[in-house]
Parts: sequence; C-alpha cells; structure tokens
Amino acid sequence: MIQVIPVERKSAVLTPSSLACLAHIPTINFTVGCAHECRYCYARGYLTHPGEGKIKLYINTLAKLQEELHRKRQKPTVVYFSPSSDPFQPVPEVLDLAYEVFSFLLESGIGVAFVTKGLIPERHRKLFALHAPLVRGQIGLITMDSAVTSTFEPWAAAPEVRLAQTVELIDAGVQVEARVDPILPGVTDGEECLESLCAALAGAGVRRIAASVLFLRPAVIGSLRRCVKDQEMVHRLLDRFARAEPMAIHAENSRVRAIPTEERLEIFHRLKSIAHRYGLEMLVCACKNLDISRGSCHITGRWPTTPQTSADQQELFPL
Ligand code: SF4
Repeated sequence: MIQVIPVERKSAVLTPSSLACLAHIPTINFTVGCAHECRYCYARGYLTHPGEGKIKLYINTLAKLQEELHRKRQKPTVVYFSPSSDPFQPVPEVLDLAYEVFSFLLESGIGVAFVTKGLIPERHRKLFALHAPLVRGQIGLITMDSAVTSTFEPWAAAPEVRLAQTVELIDAGVQVEARVDPILPGVTDGEECLESLCAALAGAGVRRIAASVLFLRPAVIGSLRRCVKDQEMVHRLLDRFARAEPMAIHAENSRVRAIPTEERLEIFHRLKSIAHRYGLEMLVCACKNLDISRGSCHITGRWPTTPQTSADQQELFPL
C-alpha cells in the first residue's frame, strides 16, 4: 500500500528539463516518487526521492498551472508528462489530478505528450481519443515476459494491458510510440526476448521505438538487492556490470555506471536489426548514450513545429 503525502507546490508547475530532447518543452511531474516502484528506476537516486512505499502529491498543481498560463503571453504548444514520475500511477488521487490537468490543457488547445508504464484508465483514454490530434503517447515496455515485468516493475500494468491500450489509442487516431528503456543486460537483451517484444509492438500498430540500456547508481543497486525477490535474476544483471565504466549523461552533472560502449552498441545493433524486420524504426536515446548517439529521439513525438534534425537520420556511431 503506497502512502500518499499531500504537499503544496511552491515552485513553478511548468518546469524546464535538463534533457536535451526536452530543451524547449515544459514538463510537469504530479508527484515526487512513483507508485510503480520499478526496481531499476533512476529517480530513486534523486535527493528528493521520498523513500520506498511513499509518494508526495502536488495537490495544488491545477490551480497553479492555470495561474501560470494566464500570465504567459505565449502558451506552450505541448507539455510533457512526466520526466521523473508517471502520470498513470495506480493511485486514485494521482489519476484524478492527471485527468483534471490533461482536460484543462487539451480544452485550452495545448498538446500533451506522456510516457507511461501504467494502466491508462478508460476516462483518460476517452479524453485522449476526443482530442487525438493534440496527444502523443509513449508506452514504456521492456519485455513481454511477465515474470520479468512483475519482478522489476511490480505495480506497473501487465505488458498485455499496455499493448491493448496502445491499440485502442492508435485506433482512435493518437500517435503512440514505445520506449524500450531500460533494456536489462543479461535479462531482457536476448534475441528471443527482443524478437517477441518487437513482434508485439509492431502487432499493436507501433511504428517507432526509442531504446536505452540500464545504467546504475548506488540507489538502484540498493533497490535491486533489497526489493527483488528473484536474486538469481539480479545476479545475472549485475554480473554484466562487472566491467562497468563511469559514464556522463545529459540530464545531470553526476556520472553513472554503464556497461562498456561496445556491449551497449552490440545490443542496440541487434535490437535495430530485429526492429527493422518488423517494420519498426529504432532510435537510441542520445541523452543517456552520449558516447554512441547524437540528436533527439523526439521523446514528445513529432509536432508540426518539430524541427527536422540530424536525429531523423540518426545513426549509431561505429566502434
Ligand atoms: S514508471 Fe517510470 S518513473 Fe515510475 S517507477 Fe517506473 S521507471 Fe520510475
């Protein structure tokens, strides 16, 4: 049972992100912490993380957002949800707030882009269908193996549920892509695993995926050792980090531990070739792989104002 701690937000609701892909797009987090409690979640390493089993909910988000937008001469084209949480956590207060904020923005003609590993409730799906041209979704899905998802993403939606809602949104005219992030080396990077994932995504109507491989920071290692029951899976994963190297990532000044460049490249090349067989375009998240990729994976989807960049012909750097 998750503990919801209501808090008043003092700082601005529309927040700039340090991710290069989100440089010109305001973002909103409804919560600090995330009730999905993915064992690999990078946000666990943030100083503000409220700790296991808790989230802080910004209860005044809608009122503050309305005030902020009222003062702005130029409204944003699109708002992104959520760089370090999830708008569809299985918590009624979060879902109610998400519905209110999405409704307000869409009815004001402002686009919404979201990434989620959660179950999108029916009323939210209907709202998105009603405003389809103003919505872009990204479904986070790392594998079709439910033993793996229930181990590492205990409170996220089952893979089949994520796919079913993807189908429904695409059928309603919403652009939906997939984030295969993080690939778990030694657990989800096998040929069969990637193949079944690509087949399922293509079957659901997805045409583009963006991918990244897990990196580690101390809080993530702690969570994997403390919270995952199947420690054999954790050993398989951590063994692959035996030759891990420090790596800089775009969003932060801190450095993280990543498996060597050539091993990540091998995984990306393999995924790309499988993805192509299923008619999927595949991009590497450049913000988390500065040594391998450049440009943007267009995390917010493509909008009429999206500039054409070199990322549109993004290539993995050769070794
Ligand atoms: S859904 Fe995303 S933000 Fe939430 S715990 Fe999982 S990885 Fe973290």
